[in-house]
Amino acid sequence: MASSAVLRGRIEKKGGRRSSLKSRRSALLNMPIDLILEITDELSPADKIIFATTCRAIRNTVGRGQFPSDTYEDRQERFEYLAGMCRDMPNHWVCEECMRYHRIDTSDTSVQSRPTCPLADRYGRYNQPLTPIPGDEYELGRRHVQLALKYTRMGDSLLPRHRQYLRRLTAARQYSLSYPWETKLMVTAKIIPRIVDGRFLLRSLCEYRQSSKPVTRELIASESVCPHQQVFPPRDDDWSNDAFHQNLRQFHKAVNDSFETPGKEVHSHCPHCFTDFSVTTTTKCIRISVWMDLGTESSPLDPAWRSFVHSADLDPIDEVEYNEPGRVRELYSSEEE
Ligand SMILES: [Zn+2]
Ligand SMILES: [Zn+2]
Repeated sequence: MASSAVLRGRIEKKGGRRSSLKSRRSALLNMPIDLILEITDELSPADKIIFATTCRAIRNTVGRGQFPSDTYEDRQERFEYLAGMCRDMPNHWVCEECMRYHRIDTSDTSVQSRPTCPLADRYGRYNQPLTPIPGDEYELGRRHVQLALKYTRMGDSLLPRHRQYLRRLTAARQYSLSYPWETKLMVTAKIIPRIVDGRFLLRSLCEYRQSSKPVTRELIASESVCPHQQVFPPRDDDWSNDAFHQNLRQFHKAVNDSFETPGKEVHSHCPHCFTDFSVTTTTKCIRISVWMDLGTESSPLDPAWRSFVHSADLDPIDEVEYNEPGRVRELYSSEEE
């Protein structure tokens, strides 16, 4: 490998001008070469290739890097490479379906999804949106998460149009539905995204009310809080006691507990994705709060994201083990306005 010797040689050839050049150089280039190489050894293949593009001195020292030979790992690293290269491009998003960048359309938001990709639909392998409230038109695409995190990180360097777009990407959505003739059911829902510590968090709040009579479990019989947690019919209560099935019944259990302790907020979490939730039941209303952590600015292969969206290729179970109940709720609340 062309290496430390090359970089060292270049520096030494500069002779008398060395010290003034050195002072103008980045802190990284002033580090001992062996240390740079030691750091590089810890990088992923994608990060190593990106690092090599920063300047000729670095490329000569660490080499160009290469993608892995294993097909699956290769695809994963190429995703990470594209995401890394796009980090400072405010007008583009990385499409993993096409393995290329697409230009942004600032009218494309979760409320009005307009992906600038011919393959971005719910049948694609990687572009499936997250629909936190079933039946609602709120469709959070991976690109929305990617752009919101990118713009938040870029902060002060953003142009006004990107700043406006960031506000739309993270805007709260509120809506209500009523079923006056059947159950006299009234549903109000609110979804509020928030970015904290470089993670995209989503809070949703759903309230179910019935005007003429006390609420019952049947009103939320088809509800779920994430792809792994839903309400089961009452007769299924003793279906299976093994840990796997019990892990899928945390929401079901919280709903039961909340009906037994009216007025008390019953907290729980999903062990298969980063989701905290709570259920509060009174005679007039069932309130379901959900806090989701959709992960960082990475590719849609990030297990945190994969655990929330269905994909024919990928099994969302067992990717994520969430064993810090309350972490997401606390992180979200730490930036409460
Ligand atoms: Zn595309
Ligand atoms: Zn889950």
